[in-house]
Amino acid sequence: TRAAPRGIVASSLGSPACPEVEQSYIMIKPDGVQRGLVGEIISRFEKKGFSLKGLKLFRCPKDLAQEHYKDLKDKPFFPTLIDYITSGPVVCMVCILFTATYFVILSCKAWEGAGVVASARKLIGATNPLQAEPGTIRGDLAVQTGRNVVHGSDSPDNGKREIALWFKEGELCQWESVQTPWLVE
Ligand code: ADP
Repeated sequence: TRAAPRGIVASSLGSPACPEVEQSYIMIKPDGVQRGLVGEIISRFEKKGFSLKGLKLFRCPKDLAQEHYKDLKDKPFFPTLIDYITSGPVVCMVCILFTATYFVILSCKAWEGAGVVASARKLIGATNPLQAEPGTIRGDLAVQTGRNVVHGSDSPDNGKREIALWFKEGELCQWESVQTPWLVE
């Protein structure tokens, strides 16, 4: 056994020597909520070892859905995509891997190559659920691209953009998960 490290104030976060903690915006879409998959989907991220920093049930207005998916605005399916996302409540989440405090203890080295954004995309699976690998959320729980139950940011920059879009500052929770020293050495 080994002792869990004590907390240290995360004062060096954001300094040039310490890159920002990567965060992913994850969203359970209206079909996931309607089908009673909220617990199952959140559980998959929790079991992997991600920590939740934000979580809310939310009815998305049309303009927010349009802004979120603005890169797809010229696609033929854009209007039906907006109808789908605004058709019922969604569950909005911010997922992180290590808490800020532990990140500093690790002197950033464990962070490299351990991107929460790319890892969350792997857990989610391919856009078309029929092509998504079994074991992924879409591969296990969905059958059609237009009803693929969950969203995950496709890059760290988009993670930042989407979190700013869907969450207000006061809605995010800074906390330290006790499991971190048991997830990373
Ligand atoms: P992902 O969600 O895997 O990042 P995209 O960014 O390409 O995929 O698309 C965003 C969302 O738009 C998809 O998750 C899906 O809900 C919807 N979508 C994408 N392609 C289609 C399509 N051909 N028909 C209907 N909906 C689509």
